Amino acid sequence: MNILIVFAHPERRSLCGALRDVAVASLEERGHAVAVSDLHAMGWKATVDQADFPGLAPGARLQVAAASGEAFGAGALTADVVAEQEKLLWADQLILLFPLWWFGLPAILKGWVDRVYAYGFAYGVGEHSDRRWGDRYGEGRLAGKRAMLIVTAGGWEEHYAERGINGPIDDLLFPIQHGILYYPGYAVLPPFVVYQADRLDAGGFATVAERLRERMATLTTTPPVPFRQQNGGDYRIPSMQLRSGLEAPGATGFALHRAGD
Ligand code: FAD
Repeated sequence: MNILIVFAHPERRSLCGALRDVAVASLEERGHAVAVSDLHAMGWKATVDQADFPGLAPGARLQVAAASGEAFGAGALTADVVAEQEKLLWADQLILLFPLWWFGLPAILKGWVDRVYAYGFAYGVGEHSDRRWGDRYGEGRLAGKRAMLIVTAGGWEEHYAERGINGPIDDLLFPIQHGILYYPGYAVLPPFVVYQADRLDAGGFATVAERLRERMATLTTTPPVPFRQQNGGDYRIPSMQLRSGLEAPGATGFALHRAGD
Protein backbone atom coordinates (compact mmCIF):
# COMPACT_ATOMS: atom_id res chain seq x y z
CA MET A 1 0.00 0.00 0.00
CA ASN A 2 1.11 3.60 -0.58
CA ILE A 3 0.89 5.68 2.59
CA LEU A 4 1.27 9.44 3.00
CA ILE A 5 1.96 10.88 6.45
CA VAL A 6 1.41 14.62 6.75
CA PHE A 7 3.47 15.67 9.76
CA ALA A 8 2.82 18.98 11.48
CA HIS A 9 5.21 19.67 14.35
CA PRO A 10 7.97 22.28 14.37
CA GLU A 11 10.42 19.98 16.18
CA ARG A 12 11.50 16.67 14.67
CA ARG A 13 12.80 15.47 18.10
CA SER A 14 9.34 15.96 19.62
CA LEU A 15 7.04 13.23 20.82
CA CYS A 16 5.11 13.66 17.57
CA GLY A 17 8.39 13.24 15.70
CA ALA A 18 9.15 10.04 17.61
CA LEU A 19 5.66 8.70 16.79
CA ARG A 20 6.23 9.51 13.14
CA ASP A 21 9.47 7.49 13.21
CA VAL A 22 7.67 4.54 14.85
CA ALA A 23 4.88 4.68 12.27
CA VAL A 24 7.24 4.93 9.28
CA ALA A 25 9.47 2.09 10.50
CA SER A 26 6.50 -0.12 11.30
CA LEU A 27 4.84 0.48 7.92
CA GLU A 28 8.04 0.03 5.91
CA GLU A 29 8.75 -3.23 7.73
CA ARG A 30 5.42 -4.46 6.36
CA GLY A 31 6.41 -3.56 2.82
CA HIS A 32 4.33 -0.40 2.47
CA ALA A 33 5.70 2.56 0.49
CA VAL A 34 5.68 5.58 2.82
CA ALA A 35 6.00 9.26 1.93
CA VAL A 36 6.15 12.00 4.57
CA SER A 37 5.17 15.62 4.06
CA ASP A 38 7.00 17.33 6.93
CA LEU A 39 5.28 20.69 6.68
CA HIS A 40 7.73 22.73 8.78
CA ALA A 41 10.77 21.19 7.10
CA MET A 42 9.18 21.98 3.72
CA GLY A 43 8.57 25.60 4.75
CA TRP A 44 4.91 25.08 3.90
CA LYS A 45 3.02 28.33 3.22
CA ALA A 46 0.09 28.16 5.61
CA THR A 47 -2.26 30.88 4.39
CA VAL A 48 -4.33 31.25 1.26
CA ASP A 49 -3.80 34.56 -0.53
CA GLN A 50 -3.36 36.17 -3.96
CA ALA A 51 0.02 34.48 -4.44
CA ASP A 52 -1.80 31.13 -4.71
CA PHE A 53 -3.43 32.26 -7.95
CA PRO A 54 -0.80 33.70 -10.28
CA GLY A 55 -3.37 33.77 -13.10
CA LEU A 56 -5.58 36.28 -11.27
CA ALA A 57 -5.69 39.61 -13.10
CA PRO A 58 -3.74 42.36 -11.31
CA GLY A 59 -6.03 44.22 -8.91
CA ALA A 60 -8.86 41.67 -9.29
CA ARG A 61 -10.86 40.94 -6.15
CA LEU A 62 -9.87 37.55 -4.74
CA GLN A 63 -12.80 35.17 -4.35
CA VAL A 64 -11.03 32.12 -3.06
CA ALA A 65 -13.35 29.30 -4.12
CA ALA A 66 -13.82 30.75 -7.62
CA ALA A 67 -10.10 31.42 -8.07
CA SER A 68 -9.29 27.96 -6.74
CA GLY A 69 -11.71 26.29 -9.18
CA GLU A 70 -10.39 28.27 -12.13
CA ALA A 71 -6.77 27.53 -11.27
CA PHE A 72 -7.50 23.84 -10.71
CA GLY A 73 -9.37 23.60 -14.03
CA ALA A 74 -6.60 25.42 -15.89
CA GLY A 75 -3.81 23.43 -14.28
CA ALA A 76 -2.54 26.70 -12.82
CA LEU A 77 -2.31 25.91 -9.12
CA THR A 78 1.11 26.55 -7.57
CA ALA A 79 3.69 23.76 -7.74
CA ASP A 80 3.70 23.10 -3.98
CA VAL A 81 -0.07 22.53 -3.97
CA VAL A 82 0.04 20.33 -7.08
CA ALA A 83 2.79 18.20 -5.53
CA GLU A 84 0.65 17.56 -2.43
CA GLN A 85 -2.40 16.74 -4.55
CA GLU A 86 -0.33 14.22 -6.49
CA LYS A 87 0.77 12.63 -3.22
CA LEU A 88 -2.88 12.36 -2.12
CA LEU A 89 -3.78 10.65 -5.40
CA TRP A 90 -0.79 8.31 -5.04
CA ALA A 91 -1.57 7.32 -1.44
CA ASP A 92 -4.07 4.58 -0.58
CA GLN A 93 -3.89 5.68 3.04
CA LEU A 94 -3.45 9.18 4.48
CA ILE A 95 -2.27 9.82 8.05
CA LEU A 96 -2.38 13.29 9.60
CA LEU A 97 0.00 13.42 12.59
CA PHE A 98 -0.12 16.48 14.85
CA PRO A 99 -0.32 17.80 18.42
CA LEU A 100 -3.78 19.01 19.43
CA TRP A 101 -3.45 22.77 19.63
CA TRP A 102 -6.45 24.72 20.88
CA PHE A 103 -8.67 21.72 20.30
CA GLY A 104 -7.85 21.51 16.64
CA LEU A 105 -5.20 21.37 13.93
CA PRO A 106 -2.00 23.41 14.22
CA ALA A 107 -2.28 26.37 11.83
CA ILE A 108 0.26 24.99 9.36
CA LEU A 109 -1.81 21.82 8.90
CA LYS A 110 -5.07 23.71 8.60
CA GLY A 111 -3.34 25.80 5.96
CA TRP A 112 -2.24 22.65 4.16
CA VAL A 113 -5.90 21.60 3.96
CA ASP A 114 -7.04 25.08 2.91
CA ARG A 115 -4.56 25.20 0.03
CA VAL A 116 -4.31 21.57 -1.12
CA TYR A 117 -8.05 20.90 -1.04
CA ALA A 118 -8.77 23.02 -4.13
CA TYR A 119 -12.24 23.57 -5.57
CA GLY A 120 -12.79 20.82 -8.12
CA PHE A 121 -10.25 18.61 -6.35
CA ALA A 122 -11.70 18.09 -2.88
CA TYR A 123 -14.91 20.11 -3.00
CA GLY A 124 -17.22 21.26 -5.77
CA VAL A 125 -16.96 17.73 -7.17
CA GLY A 126 -19.84 15.97 -8.95
CA GLU A 127 -23.36 16.99 -9.94
CA HIS A 128 -24.94 19.73 -7.83
CA SER A 129 -28.68 19.81 -8.41
CA ASP A 130 -31.98 19.31 -6.58
CA ARG A 131 -31.42 15.58 -6.99
CA ARG A 132 -27.78 15.36 -6.03
CA TRP A 133 -25.67 17.55 -3.81
CA GLY A 134 -22.28 16.74 -5.24
CA ASP A 135 -19.94 13.85 -4.56
CA ARG A 136 -19.01 14.29 -0.91
CA TYR A 137 -19.32 12.63 2.49
CA GLY A 138 -18.21 9.19 1.47
CA GLU A 139 -17.94 9.95 -2.25
CA GLY A 140 -15.59 12.25 -4.13
CA ARG A 141 -12.11 12.34 -5.57
CA LEU A 142 -10.52 10.50 -2.64
CA ALA A 143 -13.17 7.77 -2.31
CA GLY A 144 -11.78 4.27 -2.00
CA LYS A 145 -8.89 5.51 0.14
CA ARG A 146 -8.53 5.40 3.90
CA ALA A 147 -7.38 8.06 6.37
CA MET A 148 -6.68 8.37 10.07
CA LEU A 149 -5.39 10.82 12.66
CA ILE A 150 -2.47 10.37 15.03
CA VAL A 151 -2.88 13.04 17.70
CA THR A 152 -1.07 13.94 20.91
CA ALA A 153 -2.98 15.90 23.57
CA GLY A 154 -1.96 17.42 26.88
CA GLY A 155 -5.29 16.69 28.56
CA TRP A 156 -6.28 13.49 30.34
CA GLU A 157 -8.39 10.84 28.63
CA GLU A 158 -11.13 11.49 31.24
CA HIS A 159 -11.18 15.17 30.26
CA TYR A 160 -12.14 14.04 26.74
CA ALA A 161 -14.69 11.43 27.81
CA GLU A 162 -18.47 11.70 27.31
CA ARG A 163 -18.91 14.00 30.35
CA GLY A 164 -15.40 15.47 30.36
CA ILE A 165 -14.87 19.22 30.55
CA ASN A 166 -13.12 19.42 27.16
CA GLY A 167 -15.94 17.67 25.35
CA PRO A 168 -15.80 14.14 23.93
CA ILE A 169 -12.80 13.54 21.68
CA ASP A 170 -15.04 12.18 18.91
CA ASP A 171 -16.95 15.48 18.91
CA LEU A 172 -13.78 17.60 18.90
CA LEU A 173 -12.32 15.60 16.03
CA PHE A 174 -15.60 15.51 14.08
CA PRO A 175 -14.80 18.60 11.96
CA ILE A 176 -11.49 17.00 10.97
CA GLN A 177 -12.63 13.40 10.56
CA HIS A 178 -16.04 14.09 9.00
CA GLY A 179 -15.54 17.59 7.59
CA ILE A 180 -12.01 17.26 6.19
CA LEU A 181 -11.44 13.53 5.63
CA TYR A 182 -14.85 11.97 4.97
CA TYR A 183 -16.02 14.96 2.90
CA PRO A 184 -13.75 14.28 -0.11
CA GLY A 185 -14.38 10.54 0.19
CA TYR A 186 -11.94 8.97 2.62
CA ALA A 187 -13.07 6.09 4.82
CA VAL A 188 -11.92 7.29 8.25
CA LEU A 189 -10.32 4.90 10.71
CA PRO A 190 -10.68 5.52 14.45
CA PRO A 191 -8.06 8.02 15.66
CA PHE A 192 -4.91 7.13 17.58
CA VAL A 193 -4.79 9.58 20.50
CA VAL A 194 -2.02 9.96 23.08
CA TYR A 195 -3.40 11.68 26.18
CA GLN A 196 -1.34 13.44 28.89
CA ALA A 197 1.36 13.70 26.26
CA ASP A 198 3.39 16.35 28.09
CA ARG A 199 3.93 13.99 31.02
CA LEU A 200 5.04 10.99 29.03
CA ASP A 201 8.23 9.34 30.27
CA ALA A 202 10.34 6.67 28.57
CA GLY A 203 8.21 3.83 29.97
CA GLY A 204 5.02 5.55 28.84
CA PHE A 205 6.51 6.10 25.42
CA ALA A 206 7.36 2.41 25.06
CA THR A 207 3.72 1.53 25.77
CA VAL A 208 2.42 4.14 23.34
CA ALA A 209 4.88 3.06 20.65
CA GLU A 210 3.72 -0.54 20.99
CA ARG A 211 0.07 0.54 20.69
CA LEU A 212 0.95 2.52 17.59
CA ARG A 213 2.77 -0.43 16.02
CA GLU A 214 -0.38 -2.51 16.55
CA ARG A 215 -2.48 0.14 14.81
CA MET A 216 -0.04 0.31 11.92
CA ALA A 217 -0.16 -3.49 11.64
CA THR A 218 -3.95 -3.47 11.34
CA LEU A 219 -4.36 -0.44 9.05
CA THR A 220 -5.82 -2.43 6.21
CA THR A 221 -8.25 -4.43 8.35
CA THR A 222 -9.46 -1.86 10.92
CA PRO A 223 -13.13 -1.05 10.23
CA PRO A 224 -13.75 2.64 9.51
CA VAL A 225 -15.98 4.90 11.58
CA PRO A 226 -19.47 4.22 10.15
CA PHE A 227 -20.24 7.76 8.98
CA ARG A 228 -23.41 7.91 6.92
CA GLN A 229 -23.08 8.47 3.17
CA GLN A 230 -24.70 11.64 1.93
CA ASN A 231 -26.09 9.97 -1.19
CA GLY A 232 -26.88 6.63 0.39
CA GLY A 233 -30.53 7.47 1.14
CA ASP A 234 -30.21 8.52 4.80
CA TYR A 235 -30.56 12.25 4.02
CA ARG A 236 -33.26 14.28 2.32
CA ILE A 237 -31.98 16.17 -0.71
CA PRO A 238 -31.63 19.14 -1.01
CA SER A 239 -32.28 19.96 2.67
CA MET A 240 -29.54 17.47 3.68
CA GLN A 241 -31.45 16.58 6.85
CA LEU A 242 -31.09 13.12 8.28
CA ARG A 243 -34.38 11.32 7.80
CA SER A 244 -36.18 10.88 11.10
CA GLY A 245 -36.22 7.52 12.77
CA LEU A 246 -32.78 6.42 11.58
CA GLU A 247 -30.90 7.43 14.69
CA ALA A 248 -30.40 5.31 17.77
CA PRO A 249 -32.75 6.27 20.63
CA GLY A 250 -31.48 9.45 22.30
CA ALA A 251 -28.73 10.11 19.75
CA THR A 252 -28.18 13.81 19.04
CA GLY A 253 -25.53 16.11 17.62
CA PHE A 254 -22.58 14.69 15.74
CA ALA A 255 -23.54 11.13 16.71
CA LEU A 256 -26.52 11.40 14.33
CA HIS A 257 -24.13 11.10 11.42
CA ARG A 258 -22.73 7.75 12.47
CA ALA A 259 -24.84 4.76 11.53
CA GLY A 260 -25.50 2.53 14.49
CA ASP A 261 -25.11 5.26 17.17
P1 FAD B 1 6.82 17.00 23.33
O1 FAD B 1 6.74 18.29 24.05
O2 FAD B 1 7.86 16.88 22.27
O3 FAD B 1 7.03 15.80 24.35
C1 FAD B 1 6.09 15.52 25.36
C2 FAD B 1 6.72 14.61 26.38
O4 FAD B 1 7.01 13.35 25.78
C3 FAD B 1 8.05 15.15 26.94
O5 FAD B 1 7.99 15.06 28.34
C4 FAD B 1 9.05 14.20 26.36
O6 FAD B 1 10.18 14.03 27.21
C5 FAD B 1 8.24 12.91 26.31
N1 FAD B 1 8.80 11.83 25.49
C6 FAD B 1 8.84 10.54 25.89
N2 FAD B 1 9.44 9.79 24.99
C7 FAD B 1 9.81 10.59 23.99
C8 FAD B 1 10.48 10.36 22.75
N3 FAD B 1 10.88 9.14 22.38
N4 FAD B 1 10.69 11.42 21.95
C9 FAD B 1 10.26 12.65 22.30
N5 FAD B 1 9.62 12.91 23.47
C10 FAD B 1 9.39 11.89 24.30
N6 FAD B 1 -3.56 20.04 24.87
C11 FAD B 1 -4.86 19.69 24.89
O7 FAD B 1 -5.20 18.62 25.43
N7 FAD B 1 -5.81 20.46 24.28
C12 FAD B 1 -5.49 21.62 23.65
O8 FAD B 1 -6.38 22.27 23.10
C13 FAD B 1 -4.13 22.03 23.64
N8 FAD B 1 -3.77 23.18 23.04
C14 FAD B 1 -2.44 23.50 22.95
C15 FAD B 1 -2.07 24.66 22.27
C16 FAD B 1 -0.73 24.99 22.16
C17 FAD B 1 -0.35 26.21 21.37
C18 FAD B 1 0.24 24.19 22.76
C19 FAD B 1 1.71 24.55 22.65
C20 FAD B 1 -0.10 23.06 23.46
C21 FAD B 1 -1.45 22.69 23.56
N9 FAD B 1 -1.86 21.54 24.21
C22 FAD B 1 -3.18 21.19 24.26
C23 FAD B 1 -0.85 20.55 24.67
C24 FAD B 1 -0.31 19.79 23.46
O9 FAD B 1 -1.34 19.02 22.89
C25 FAD B 1 0.88 18.92 23.87
O10 FAD B 1 1.89 19.78 24.33
C26 FAD B 1 1.38 18.10 22.72
O11 FAD B 1 0.39 17.22 22.26
C27 FAD B 1 2.59 17.26 23.12
O12 FAD B 1 3.12 16.67 21.95
P2 FAD B 1 4.59 17.07 21.47
O13 FAD B 1 4.95 16.22 20.31
O14 FAD B 1 4.69 18.55 21.28
O15 FAD B 1 5.38 16.61 22.77
